Amino acid sequence: MDCLFCEIVKGGIPSTKVYEDETVLAFKDIKPMAPVHIIVIPKEHIAESAAGINSENSAIIAHIFEIIAKIAKEQELDNGFRVITNSGEDAAQTVNHIHFHILGGKKLPEKLA
Ligand code: 5GP
Ligand code: ZN
Repeated sequence: MDCLFCEIVKGGIPSTKVYEDETVLAFKDIKPMAPVHIIVIPKEHIAESAAGINSENSAIIAHIFEIIAKIAKEQELDNGFRVITNSGEDAAQTVNHIHFHILGGKKLPEKLA
């Protein structure tokens, strides 16, 4: 399967890592939309998007949100941050390996869409 984020996990495509453990990887987005823009992924290709979260794989999603809180502290996003997961075509998802954007470091626009 051709998956960009699986390639990043394997190291075939370089990335600037900000966090890694056995199951989760976080790295800087290549086209940052805010001063802090980090992508957090499960290393395993457990789902294409949030539409694929179920009772079998939701424990890692819970773990990802613990890591998001940890990264936000490390990145000093004490004034707030946004977590986004684009799911499917209407959300303009471009990489079909479930992932969470952490955006912060500035006052983000109020409108989400
Ligand atoms: P999506 O639009 O699917 O929610 O988000 C995919 C994100 O992956 C985009 O923000 C895009 O900039 C980022 N991205 C795409 N290719 C690469 C890459 O090769 N390296 C990194 N670090 N980020 C990438
Ligand atoms: Zn993948």
